[in-house]
Amino acid sequence: MLIDTHSHLHFRKYDEDRNEVHARMAEFGVKTITIGTAMNTSRGAVEYADSHADTWASVGYHPEHVTSDFEDDDEIGVLDEQFDAEKLERIAASSPRVIAIGEVGLDYHYFNESGKMKSGLTIEGAKLNQKNIFLQQVSLARKLNKTLIVHVRDAAADMLSILTDHRNSNPETRIVIHGFSEKWETAQKYLDLGCYIGIGGIVTFKPRKETLPEDTLTSIAQKMPLDRLLLETDAPWLAPVPVRGTRNEPTYVRHVAEFVARARGISLQEISDVTTKNAQKCFNCDFGF
Ligand SMILES: [Zn+2]
Repeated sequence: MLIDTHSHLHFRKYDEDRNEVHARMAEFGVKTITIGTAMNTSRGAVEYADSHADTWASVGYHPEHVTSDFEDDDEIGVLDEQFDAEKLERIAASSPRVIAIGEVGLDYHYFNESGKMKSGLTIEGAKLNQKNIFLQQVSLARKLNKTLIVHVRDAAADMLSILTDHRNSNPETRIVIHGFSEKWETAQKYLDLGCYIGIGGIVTFKPRKETLPEDTLTSIAQKMPLDRLLLETDAPWLAPVPVRGTRNEPTYVRHVAEFVARARGISLQEISDVTTKNAQKCFNCDFGF
């Protein structure tokens, strides 16, 4: 059995063949958490988890939607409804199958790309907006005792400072750094804060030439404490080798599992057992096992 701790299975990319996707999950013993990214896709995640026994939900407002006009094909309508903390709280409390708040966080990656930032925003203003909305969702996770699923890109210093502040007064918050793809030094800082690290398909890709050997994701997946490791797909994006470039789906978490097991010199069974146990603990959920 394997838990794909981060997918977007309720998105439109699966409209044509959802039954087959779920049949493959059953065949390979995979369960997943489907992740909301805005008000509408958070409601969608809850509805989906309520009607699929192998899927749980996370609700949250993604930092990119705070400051960008960009809307993916899968997220049509996200821009029609702004972040609303009270509304999100109602969505989060609407079903016991909501086990996390996310994906939420900071994403400064596209600030320099033309046409992606909301008009009238400066970079400093955009950072402030993202931090403000992230902090409201951190409080919500605390208030409802849900796990926090963090998306962070090109913003590690600010994220570490926010989480360090939070930790001082909230030692019990369960936090996942999803889709980790930073340096070992940064991973260690998150680990010191008690965070779990979500490793996805990127671990199977060849690292960039400029990446130091100790900073490759393979090396990080090898040396990080096994009891903090979570596996994920981020489906429909980032399909792992050997299916890279195709539409990703939760079942492909087994390719990530196989890769990490090989890197650590342990069996697929072992990696499956330990990461499932980690997911149960991190999300305070038995996932029906
Ligand atoms: Zn995601």
